[in-house]
Amino acid sequence: MSLRPILIHPDPRLKKVATPVAEVTDDIRRLADDMLETMYDAPGIGLAAPQVGVMDRVLVMDCVKDPEATPDPMVLINPEIVEVSEAMNVYEEGCLSIPEQYAEVERPAEVSVKWLGLDGKTHSEHFDGLWATCVQHEIDHLNGKLFIDYLKPLKRQMITRKMVKLKRELARA
Ligand SMILES: [Zn+2]
Repeated sequence: MSLRPILIHPDPRLKKVATPVAEVTDDIRRLADDMLETMYDAPGIGLAAPQVGVMDRVLVMDCVKDPEATPDPMVLINPEIVEVSEAMNVYEEGCLSIPEQYAEVERPAEVSVKWLGLDGKTHSEHFDGLWATCVQHEIDHLNGKLFIDYLKPLKRQMITRKMVKLKRELARA
């Protein structure tokens, strides 16, 4: 396993639609392992393949935030939202590709998702709470969408300007 660098917004790869995975290969297994390691190291609760520059429809997440609790790493390949609740929920979201910026986003409170597992089988699960927000945020990444795209243009531009500045500083360091 190895850590992969996380792309920082703005980056054209974060705006692209990722490609469905045809088959669970060793490359995909390695990608998933690396993504989990990168996510835990960051630390974060979710990471999508485009955030490490790979345009495959793969995401990882673990919304167990209590360090004392048992981790629950999940790998979702080709995830699809099959049902959303009418009830909405607001969470203050952040993103590993938009460091240290947080904003409230409203999304369906509960979602049913199906996906291909690393075992090559179809899985489905009903998510609520933070898990529901996280899985929707990560699936958005696979469609080239960021949480700041839900914000008013002024707020989004302000965050983007900060990220441009941050990237310039990181490039100089
Ligand atoms: Zn994100």
